[in-house]
Amino acid sequence: MDLLNALVDKGLRREVPTREEALAVLATSDDELLDVVAAAGKVRRQWFGRRVKLNYLVNLKSGLCPEDCSYCSQRLGSKAEILKYTWLKPDEASKAAAAGVAGGAKRVCLVASGRGPTDKDVARVSETISAIKEQNEGVEVCACLGLLSEGQAERLRTAGADAYNHNLNTSEATYGDICTTHDFSDRVDTVQQAQAAGMSACSGLIAGMGESDADLVDVVFALRELDPDSVPVNFLIPFEGTPLAKEWNLTPQRCLRILAMVRFVCPDVEVRLAGGREVHLRSMQPLALHLVNSIFLGDYLTSEGQAGKDDLAMIADAGFEVEGTDTMTLPEHRTCGGPAAEAEAEAAEEAVSGTAETAGVPAPAEESRRDLVAVRRRGAGTDLPPNA
Ligand code: SF4
Repeated sequence: MDLLNALVDKGLRREVPTREEALAVLATSDDELLDVVAAAGKVRRQWFGRRVKLNYLVNLKSGLCPEDCSYCSQRLGSKAEILKYTWLKPDEASKAAAAGVAGGAKRVCLVASGRGPTDKDVARVSETISAIKEQNEGVEVCACLGLLSEGQAERLRTAGADAYNHNLNTSEATYGDICTTHDFSDRVDTVQQAQAAGMSACSGLIAGMGESDADLVDVVFALRELDPDSVPVNFLIPFEGTPLAKEWNLTPQRCLRILAMVRFVCPDVEVRLAGGREVHLRSMQPLALHLVNSIFLGDYLTSEGQAGKDDLAMIADAGFEVEGTDTMTLPEHRTCGGPAAEAEAEAAEEAVSGTAETAGVPAPAEESRRDLVAVRRRGAGTDLPPNA
């Protein structure tokens, strides 16, 4: 297939595809699916071999958010019966993190609900980062605390945060449909603040919110332009009690096409399979390992994932290996910058600005799989042991 050959060549050269090529990946048929996975898998193996990085989420503060992101079970007015608690103490967070590290996680992601941290919150998260780093040698810590105010990124970096996560989630054109309390540019601004402070930026998307193919391509190209080191791809978990509870739009096949498209557009970036993988990919999860080089181990912020030991077994059974702390996740050229990175950025800019757009259509509705959504009842914020 000419399209896939062209995309593999570009991915191996870190060249950005055109929007038409990205849209064409999303439009491939089920008959072509294994060819699409095999092609994107070649690009994945070129930059990341057969390694899978494990990340572990610790929800420092759950629920009670004043923002209205419609996909989120912690939003203002959410009726989802999730765990609600205020800030975990540093030793509680560190204990939760240690369980993830013992399970094989290389990165711990400290997440708190809310619009953004106060300076006091930054101070308490800084203490938590120190506690985790003292007790878990070599672990990477990523903070995800919402929109940052001036100086906060620098303080988190000084406290030892290796990375900062803030997702773009969807295209700029449709951002107003999923949230009214902040906008797309606020999110871009926070990612750029994290980068300017010397943290590795993590920024991704959520698929399955009723967006078109063109929206998905738009957000992935916006991410490529922003150039984060990691791109988490979430598949919407339509929580009962949230405005998107009826948005069951994804099939396992569509999820694989989306992941392949992200890999082709962001070939040498850590593409992370995030929330919703068990709910939407189901028994096709192992195929996704040919596309992504990173997943979350165990549970998510407010929902339960499959057992950590099943994640590890899946990785081994599919012929992949868990990435150790002694291995760099990113290819060398991404960690040192230089002329190659500059040339790549120029190529990306041309491709982003110079091509026409084809309107996509939302995927057909899929049957609800509410039976697969389990609200988290264990780990951080409870007396029960975490899943790791
Ligand atoms: S995504 Fe973050 S900011 Fe938005 S409602 Fe959820 S916790 Fe609040």
